[in-house]
Amino acid sequence: MNFDTVIIGGGLAGLVCGIKLQEKGQRCAIINNGQAAIDFSSGSLDLLSRLPDGKNVQNIDRTFAQLVEQAPQHPYSVLGQEVVLAKAREFEQLAQSLNLDLLGTLAQNHYRVTPLGGLRASWLSPNSVPTVLEGEAFAHDRIAILGIEGYHDFQPQMLADNLLQQAPFAHCEVSTGYLNIPELDQLRQAAREFRSVNIAQLLEHKLSFHNLVNEIKEAAKGASAVFLPACFGLDTQVFFTQLREATGLALFELPTLPPSLLGIRQHKQLRYRFEKSGGLMMNGDRALRAELDGNRVVKIYTEIHQDIAISAQHFVLASGSFFSNGLVAEFDRIYEPVFGADILEMADFAADKRLSWTHARFSQPQPYQSAGVIINSHCQVQKSGQFLQNLFAAGNVIGGYNGIELGCGSGVAVVTALWAAEQIGGGDEY
Ligand SMILES: Cc1cc2nc3c(=O)[nH]c(=O)nc-3n(C[C@H](O)[C@H](O)[C@H](O)COP(=O)(O)OP(=O)(O)OC[C@H]3O[C@@H](n4cnc5c(N)ncnc54)[C@H](O)[C@@H]3O)c2cc1C
Repeated sequence: MNFDTVIIGGGLAGLVCGIKLQEKGQRCAIINNGQAAIDFSSGSLDLLSRLPDGKNVQNIDRTFAQLVEQAPQHPYSVLGQEVVLAKAREFEQLAQSLNLDLLGTLAQNHYRVTPLGGLRASWLSPNSVPTVLEGEAFAHDRIAILGIEGYHDFQPQMLADNLLQQAPFAHCEVSTGYLNIPELDQLRQAAREFRSVNIAQLLEHKLSFHNLVNEIKEAAKGASAVFLPACFGLDTQVFFTQLREATGLALFELPTLPPSLLGIRQHKQLRYRFEKSGGLMMNGDRALRAELDGNRVVKIYTEIHQDIAISAQHFVLASGSFFSNGLVAEFDRIYEPVFGADILEMADFAADKRLSWTHARFSQPQPYQSAGVIINSHCQVQKSGQFLQNLFAAGNVIGGYNGIELGCGSGVAVVTALWAAEQIGGGDEY
């Protein structure tokens, strides 16, 4: 099997890179062995929400120099301001062409409402999610927060209490209630199946649309805005938009505890586009090891293809972090399992010094969360002190940043994916 590019990992980074390369005429395969972080994420994509010194970021352009000073090993610092801004802009265009229904711009972060009623700065959010800009009051005065009876992954009362503490919502009258949907009774009997994905399947395909519309209208009790758990519309946002139109209310949806429908929808759309443009998805397979010739990767072997090697001109490592087994931690070492790539050392972290992996205080950013492989400004990966010519990295497998602390997880994934694609040969603007 021979391809132009083989990508290891079919999460946000792998798919964005694959789409870009396919659309530039390459023949790509993505080897992917499991669920990705996007299936659990909020559906909002963060570019950069905070600096390491804790300062909030409103505009990445104006704060870039401070980021480079405070975090010189961050992938954005390695790639440089011009590249990061250009690739973020390019992703905004790609997202539009993919109909991801996102709002936001890199010119200004917005705040999205979290499932617990907090506010988090973000770059792009689904347009079905409640958001406000800095210094702005929420556009509605009366909000009804509606849960689903028996569904514990979304707590209206807690959300309401916390929401009222937030300045943009201080003027609001917030009520809470539950949708009573008898058709869900069967699911309710098995608590483990009473999750957003199962509920969504039932609501969208087995329940009378008319009944659901009436139930939401009644439970809203005159509020103009209604916050619901993201349980409406499994594959796309179309079903939710139809409900919005039919109720005549400003319906908003909030991510629930994982799995997250908002992320799953994006994942499906990205995968659909990759396959529609001719890309080959090798799901359920796992890249095991690589063969090198000098500083070029020539082939890789996978769990299913242990004897028949997969060869390509270029390879992209988009295998994620510990969560996805892109990085592995054993008692005394952290390593990247497919290529044995070098792991980045930082001031407070070394892959072979276990005691440096964690901070004594649980609530502090944990050093292991910044672990990952070393890249240069072309996203090429380092192995045994040398940058490999045709192996590029994208996304969470890259070291030097803590996506949770800085709010930049998805931003790093899409920026490095598009930049890696450009290095390989997928350069033009959308
Ligand atoms: C619960 C949660 C909430 C989040 N919320 C946000 C948020 O609000 N905003 C934000 O910006 N970011 C958020 N993130 C982070 C963001 O989702 C990730 O940074 C981003 O999706 C990483 O994408 P990735 O493609 O690099 O890695 P991943 O999504 O981890 O994908 C890697 C893929 O590679 C596969 N793989 C690994 N090894 C192999 C192998 N050897 N062979 C084949 N396949 C392999 C894995 O199975 C996986 O499917 C969140 C993450 C989580 C987990």
